[in-house]
Amino acid sequence: MKHKFSLLAALVLSLPLAGQAQKKAPTPSAGANAESAIKEADIKRDLFALADDHFRGREGGTLDELKASVWLADQIRATGMLPAGDDGTYFQWFHLQRTRLTKASTLRIGTHEIKLDQDGSVVAPTNASINAPLVYVGTGSPAELAKVDIKGKAVAVQISGAPTDGISYRRYVFGKFAGQAGELTKAGAVAVVFVSDAPSQAVYDHWSHVFERGRYSLPGAASTKVMNTPPVMWLPMSAASWVQQAAGQQLVADLKVESFQYPSVNIVAKMPGTDAQLKKEYVLFSTHQDHDGVRAPIAGDSIYNGADDNATGCAALLAIMRAFKQKPARRSALFVYQGSEERGLIGSTYFSAHPTVPQSSIVAVLNAEMMGRNAPDSAALLGSTPPHLNSSDLVKTALAANQAGPKFKLDTEWDKATHPEGWYFRSDHLPYARLGIPAIMYTSLLHVDYHTPRDEAKRIDYNKLLHMTQWMYLTGWAVANRTAPPAREPGFKLER
Ligand SMILES: [Zn+2]
Repeated sequence: MKHKFSLLAALVLSLPLAGQAQKKAPTPSAGANAESAIKEADIKRDLFALADDHFRGREGGTLDELKASVWLADQIRATGMLPAGDDGTYFQWFHLQRTRLTKASTLRIGTHEIKLDQDGSVVAPTNASINAPLVYVGTGSPAELAKVDIKGKAVAVQISGAPTDGISYRRYVFGKFAGQAGELTKAGAVAVVFVSDAPSQAVYDHWSHVFERGRYSLPGAASTKVMNTPPVMWLPMSAASWVQQAAGQQLVADLKVESFQYPSVNIVAKMPGTDAQLKKEYVLFSTHQDHDGVRAPIAGDSIYNGADDNATGCAALLAIMRAFKQKPARRSALFVYQGSEERGLIGSTYFSAHPTVPQSSIVAVLNAEMMGRNAPDSAALLGSTPPHLNSSDLVKTALAANQAGPKFKLDTEWDKATHPEGWYFRSDHLPYARLGIPAIMYTSLLHVDYHTPRDEAKRIDYNKLLHMTQWMYLTGWAVANRTAPPAREPGFKLER
């Protein structure tokens, strides 16, 4: 009786009290979110604007990236988010170090003048002045190498074979530029010239343009130090027959490197939390605003618009900001658009090391990377399985948000350490994960238009992007309102 009575009394008494308490200090639950503020039409409008030719592909370390960043800051201001960059602005500036061959560099093999970045590429910028005879070693097998003395010679070698260790074919080909070339230079070669075979020609067609840009890093990193090492070149399959015949003729190279700094920028905004204590902690929504700029035309189009990569993430974060403006959470929400991601995760490397809020106050990083392509009902959450899992607590929240919201079928293959693409290592959550901060990446994965001028706004599935955005928001909303921050996985260690 006592129990029954007190239960009834408690119910009756608590009703008006609960009503008052809710007015005074709302403790939002999953049901009280502002998901309805996230609108497909807004996402579509913002994405079309940002992926327009007007921004010329937003290449990191160019005026185009800065132009897009200023446009984004204007949109962010309009959502009502507060600036959280340096000195009360939406911007956190940093310097890129860029090291590349000068346009004055020249290469000749026998009678063939090679126009660099047009007829062939030098795969790493290096100072070199070479006048040496060329030897041709076929695929460079031990038997073929035993027949020739390569000391002091330029060595031409045919790309061949296929990966046996589970990596992608592209990584296999790129791996030769350090691996096989390194062995040849160790044996005395003064230059190494790779010639594509039929399979590697496809990689050449898609990827050789990346070498024209040179190398990028934050200032002081080893990867942009000016080198004087034997150069490594890469020629298309069309050069195969004449290169073989040029054996015995001279390779003459005059390669000069320049290294300089240029500004890039992170865009940072926040919505302060409602809880006096928890507002000092941040749920970080992450994306990148840059893409690949203007490059050699493919089918007449030279602008790499990066609609999926990563205007989808940019538009998604703007939509999430509108929801947080309508209904702030207990913790603060921090929004970081990282610059120069495509140049090597440079903005996120900088921000994670120099955050504009205390590093220890970042309780989770939810990273948006390419969210608008492939099957409408499937997606992936990177960082959700070992060895990439650094917070099963955060992942549990994200999986629950998927069930409560879009119910994507989740692909787990791409999160595996054995996946040939190594996708986990290729976006902005990575530098945060390396610091032990719970971090996950929302993505709809690769597609045929990845890093081509065909990655355009008209090819995005906007309804899917809406659902991806809702999923991120619902996760972030739950993390921002719970009392304890997501627990970290003890002993987290990445495979590389
Ligand atoms: Zn990207």
